[in-house]
Order: sequence, then structure tokens, then C-alpha cells
Amino acid sequence: MSCNYYKREFSMDTMFQPSLSDCQLKEILRDHNLTVSQPRIALLRYIMQNYHHPKAETVFHDLRPDNPTLSLTTVYNTLRLFAENGLCSMLTIDDKHVYYDGDTKPHGHFMCVGCGRIFDIPGSIMPNASKLHENGMDGFQVHEMHYYLKGTCNECNENI
Ligand SMILES: [Zn+2]
Ligand SMILES: [Zn+2]
Repeated sequence: MSCNYYKREFSMDTMFQPSLSDCQLKEILRDHNLTVSQPRIALLRYIMQNYHHPKAETVFHDLRPDNPTLSLTTVYNTLRLFAENGLCSMLTIDDKHVYYDGDTKPHGHFMCVGCGRIFDIPGSIMPNASKLHENGMDGFQVHEMHYYLKGTCNECNENI
């Protein structure tokens, strides 16, 4: 009856993570109190296996061929629902687009203003939120943490 419980110990070394079965994806949805539907399974698989910080439009474009009934509105609403339930993060690194990240562990991002790609910053350079109380902010609780750098990536710099 039950499938192997999913593990979210993905490697940061690769943009593409090991594949998850429908059974595992259903379990993740139920675990987050979300009802299971075919579009949600497809979207969850995509967001948990593609760590390139896609926009909703990119997700829609990539999934549409195999999911002809999928609409952009469903993609927007479902990704937002996933973010609200801790299944992905929303990156608002630029004011024009929202990008989605299936890696919910705290990590910094570098956005290239040349090619528009967003890179994960390896290692921990996140400010230490647990030290808020040491700075006179007793009783404050952090719900989200974002750390963004903007600049030009190595490939764009080579092409100048
Ligand atoms: Zn670049
Ligand atoms: Zn990321």
C-alpha cells in the first residue's frame, strides 16, 4: 500500500534532482494537507526536480505539451498554494517576475542582470537570524529569509 517515504535531502550540486514517483508526490501533497490532483502532481514533480528557479510561464510552457488541459492560471494558483504550504519558495528578486524554488532550505541567490539566470549560492552566507535577540529584537520571529545578490555571471563577463 504505502510507498517509500520521500526524502528531501537533495543535493545542491545539481540543478536536476532524483525523480520522484507519483506515489511519493501524492504522499508529499497529503502530508501538506493538500488534496491530490493530476495537475498538482505534475507541478510538484516539476518544482521539486527543476532547481533553476523557473517563472510560472516557464513551468506552464514546459508542462503544457504533456498536460493539454493545464492553464496558466492553474499554474499560478497551484505554485502560490505550494509556497503557502512550504513546498516551494517564491523569489521576488526582481520586480517584474516571481521565480519559484523547490529547494526550501535557506540559501542565497545571485541574479545575473546580463542573462537573467538565478544561481544558488553554495555555502552559507545567510545572515544569522537566530541572533536577532542579541541585537535587541527579543520576541521577534523569522518566517522567511531572503538573501539576494545581483551582478553579472562568469559567462556574461567572458562575453563582454
Ligand atoms: Zn549571465
Ligand atoms: Zn535557489
